[in-house]
Amino acid sequence: MKVHTQRLKDLGKAARNLLILALLVSAMSAAFVIYQTTEEVVTIVDEENTMEYSFRGNKTAGEILSDNDLYLEEMDELSMALSQEVNNGDTIEIKRASDLTVVVDGKEYAFTTAEDQVDRIIKRLGLRINELDIVQPAQGEVIQAGFDGEIRITRVTEEMDVNEYPIKYAKVTRSNANMDKGEVKTIQRGSDGLRSVSEKVVYHDGVEYSRTIVEEVVEREPKEEIKEVGTNVYIATSRGQTRFQTAMYVTATAYCSCTICTGSGNGITASGTRATASRTIAAPSNFRFGTEFYIPYFRGSSNRGIFKVEDRGGAIRGNRIDIYFNSHEEAIRFGRKTLKVYVLD
Ligand SMILES: [Zn+2]
Repeated sequence: MKVHTQRLKDLGKAARNLLILALLVSAMSAAFVIYQTTEEVVTIVDEENTMEYSFRGNKTAGEILSDNDLYLEEMDELSMALSQEVNNGDTIEIKRASDLTVVVDGKEYAFTTAEDQVDRIIKRLGLRINELDIVQPAQGEVIQAGFDGEIRITRVTEEMDVNEYPIKYAKVTRSNANMDKGEVKTIQRGSDGLRSVSEKVVYHDGVEYSRTIVEEVVEREPKEEIKEVGTNVYIATSRGQTRFQTAMYVTATAYCSCTICTGSGNGITASGTRATASRTIAAPSNFRFGTEFYIPYFRGSSNRGIFKVEDRGGAIRGNRIDIYFNSHEEAIRFGRKTLKVYVLD
């Protein structure tokens, strides 16, 4: 019983060894087959074109490129050395060089490069970009397909421009019933105020691009002009309370019918009447013939200060009137006076 058992045991051991050997052999041959049939796959990125390429055995990047009829131009760049052996799953990237122009500071830099990142291109040129400068395409961007080949750097500067402007004063008019209509009194003189405006001016390549108001300060308030105008239209004359159109101050001169005073010397007025002292005055044409003037200066005279516009005169314009006298002597004696007159209704 014991012997029998031993035999069985030996028998089992031999069978197991045989099995291990068989497994080993089949594993080795399987490995060999796998080795023979395993493809390696690489990805080739040539700009926009991405392709997968399978191969067996060992190959360098250069070999793989020529297998695919891909060739490098002078400035093109490859993501690995041409001589580097490529492994399964690798990506070989070709960056094709393109013609670029960088426009900055009135200059153009033209060159060919495979670099496609804007800030690296700028760095390679040794250009300094200031904080406000505008770079198109933007720095940090990668040049895209369809790019026109021009990188433009706009120099941006800012400046504060402070200007002062007057603030026009307002004009205020008040009526005053104690003043005659036509009289104006300045109660307060107006004066302009001052405001300062601070603007931020942005220059693009030295040319003004925009202007923004940043601050506006009233340095000085304007002072309004205040005037009082008379509204009273009644004056006491020899006729009692008499209504007038307007009161005004005039420069009054005097004349007679002599040839020195008048051209004709015939004593006939422009209105066709005979010139008469204490009645006839010459006034500008805006006072029609027959208009009565009350001149308080003459209130003690026979006419109680009431005159009639009957004549005109070449020099009688604006606030000028000419008063008729009987003699040249009297006219000379009167001379020239500033008088308040009332133009009666
Ligand atoms: Zn005269």
